[in-house]
Amino acid sequence: MGLDEDALEYHRSKPPGKIEIATTKPTNTQRDLSLAYSPGVAAPCNEIDEDPERAFEYTAKGNLVGVVSDGSAVLGLGDIGPEAGKPVMEGKGVLFKRFADIDVFDVELDTDNAEAMIQTVAAMEPTFGGINLEDIAAPECFEVERRLSEKLDIPVFHDDQHGTAIISGAALVNAADIAGKELDELEVVFSGAGASAIASAKFYVSLGVSKDNITMCDSSGIITEERATHEELNRFKQEFARDIPEGDLADAMNGADVFVGLSVGGIVDQEMVQSMASDPIIFAMANPDPEIDYESAKSARDDTVIMATGRSDYPNQVNNVLGFPFIFRGALDVRATEINEEMKVAAARALADLAKQDVPDEVVKAYGDQPLQFGPDYIIPKPLDPRVLFEVTPAVAEAAIESGAARTEIDTEAYVEELEA
Ligand code: NAP
Ligand code: MG
Repeated sequence: MGLDEDALEYHRSKPPGKIEIATTKPTNTQRDLSLAYSPGVAAPCNEIDEDPERAFEYTAKGNLVGVVSDGSAVLGLGDIGPEAGKPVMEGKGVLFKRFADIDVFDVELDTDNAEAMIQTVAAMEPTFGGINLEDIAAPECFEVERRLSEKLDIPVFHDDQHGTAIISGAALVNAADIAGKELDELEVVFSGAGASAIASAKFYVSLGVSKDNITMCDSSGIITEERATHEELNRFKQEFARDIPEGDLADAMNGADVFVGLSVGGIVDQEMVQSMASDPIIFAMANPDPEIDYESAKSARDDTVIMATGRSDYPNQVNNVLGFPFIFRGALDVRATEINEEMKVAAARALADLAKQDVPDEVVKAYGDQPLQFGPDYIIPKPLDPRVLFEVTPAVAEAAIESGAARTEIDTEAYVEELEA
């Protein structure tokens, strides 16, 4: 059977879908039930009525994330709508559970109106410890996230933006290190100016890249100040408009140190790679086909090409699962009110540092015994590396505490032991 038929059978087999609700307390006796529901349940209600934060003590809120989507930009499938997006949102729930033991309600919203979405999600705040916005189209996604982050006292995180930014940011830190280049001197070219590209560009600046050294291209070429005078560019693109002559992606890549592809497959050729600076860094992350395939990029030049893609069949896969489960785990465990820039930077640095450590045999085995040692073909940890939980999670929790986003303190050493147990 092919992958499609296997996937249909996987989803269809009884019970349909991929998730169910399980109870966590005894429900065997009449007394158990009178504790779980009326009349006993009134006691925790009164506690929370006195102090809403006690919801973290008496309900599942603190381990519950809402994965919210309008289905407007689902995977590479596009605007397929909320119902068709549901398997993806359930799947996100599976990953949250599998990697960080976080429970998820997937919430598919039938609306194409950003304001309605903001109001709806805001009204759901009491239910959740955090909100993972998912597969919402740009540029609406920027406004939806900004407004909800301001409005809500729980973390709101659009994974398609920041997950990609954080994981590829970790890869960039290590790639620059291997290429012997300073972050603030890198000339960085983006192909794509959508959800993931805009967020990644902003995040690289947080990591130390100079904003003046970022050139962004969309489907019409380099985003310049000149273009902004005769064309309607959304304000997120305008923020990266450069005062340079108009041109195409090939012009932009000439002499660049870094290419970041978050656009469409097959738009970069070997000549463009050859025009880049020494030991170029190429993150071709369009899915399922990268902007240039791994072999073509690697063989285009004699010096070292440091290459990452979104694919699992090549080295350096930029996979969001390295981020969101652990970022939310750390944020939930300190009852964070937000996932701020400090927490995102901490996550990226923890991932980058982990890639420099020796890889345990079990991980090497899980990846077919290929050598995994810090270098051009291993700049970020592997998605199935269990150490990511123990490194990224406490780093995020600590950053939340230090930046004032945490509502509770933790003892980091005890916390790591707890995670490892
Ligand atoms: P998006 O918001 O729809 O943005 C797509 C961007 O690509 C737009 O700015 C669009 O330009 C641009 N584009 C389209 N055709 C182009 C061309 N021929 N040349 C240059 N730019 C072109 O999408 P997204 O969510 O950011 O995702 C973009 C891509 O990155 C997808 O392939 C996605 O699968 C991939 N991605 C991968 C990862 C990962 O590997 N971990 C994570 C996130 C995203 P206009 O603005 O002019 O329309
Ligand atoms: Mg997504």
